[in-house]
Amino acid sequence: MKHLLPESGRFYKANLHMHTTISDGKMTPEETKAAYKSRGYSIVAFTDHEVIVPHPELCDENFLAITSTEYCVAGHVVNSVPICYHLNFLAKRPDLTVSSSHSHIWLSPKQKELYVTEEMSAYDDPRTYSVEHVNDMIARAREEGFLVTLNHPYWSTQTYADYAGLKGLFGIECYNNGCFLAGYEDSMQPIDDLLHFDECPFPLATDDAHGKPNDSTDSDCFGGFVMIKADKLDYTAVMTALERGDFYASSGPEIHSLTVEDGKLKLTCTPAAKIIVTSDCRWATRKTADAPITEAEIDLSGWLNLPRVPEHRVCTSYIRVTVVDEKGDRAWTRAYQLDEITK
Ligand SMILES: [Zn+2]
Ligand SMILES: [Zn+2]
Repeated sequence: MKHLLPESGRFYKANLHMHTTISDGKMTPEETKAAYKSRGYSIVAFTDHEVIVPHPELCDENFLAITSTEYCVAGHVVNSVPICYHLNFLAKRPDLTVSSSHSHIWLSPKQKELYVTEEMSAYDDPRTYSVEHVNDMIARAREEGFLVTLNHPYWSTQTYADYAGLKGLFGIECYNNGCFLAGYEDSMQPIDDLLHFDECPFPLATDDAHGKPNDSTDSDCFGGFVMIKADKLDYTAVMTALERGDFYASSGPEIHSLTVEDGKLKLTCTPAAKIIVTSDCRWATRKTADAPITEAEIDLSGWLNLPRVPEHRVCTSYIRVTVVDEKGDRAWTRAYQLDEITK
């Protein structure tokens, strides 16, 4: 039996996109930690806009703060808002606080004084809105030790032309709670599109929260999360698990195990209305039942036995799983390549 989510370790709940009073959020970093811990989260990436502020003071045996930031590359303006790339940089080391992609935009003089270090000030990236420039940012960031994500492409008013040529992305948001509540629902489409180009961005569900939990019934906290399976709650262990893809994204349902044996996919989860397996070649299958299901066995032989034509290499190469609960909330696994399923 092969475990597509690791057998050992445990799941840690994480919000990988969050704003605090350091940029335009309403909670302080300390309030953010308290709020998320009280809801069962172990990990928050503090992705305040335009500055990388580490939070070692928040880390303890039950909580990990990931050093990170959200950078904006703005393009042409339509209806007074710019089309934009919003990219999160997640540092693989907690003390990694400088990137050559740093720029001097968005922050107030007070914020600059408080959070922009001398080292950061040495850089002033031009942030040109183009696939080429963003690819250059991603390549430099990877070299520097960051995982780079593309955030909320739908809210950013981006299309295929803006993301199809991107290289080296660690992940793309398929669910962003703030954008979802604003009426901009992201999807798996950009991820599937890039998989066709041999890129393998992982699906991410995040909050992108700016508010407080009790601000209103539409609080942007606690909507999108990832469950990371790691041996321990340690910075390196968690970032290594993320980079390997040992996690899934969710807006509600939880996946407890995901294995494959003799061409059969087995999954256990919280009560689900539907479990869907999708491939890149118009082969898909689903399990439904009259009552919610918490486990499923799905025969992959129809997909495994498809003729594979070498010159059509990008087809029939992967499957991914979506779990849908009765409310319509979803959990999304990453794409698993054919050789991960068969070897
Ligand atoms: Zn954003
Ligand atoms: Zn954000």
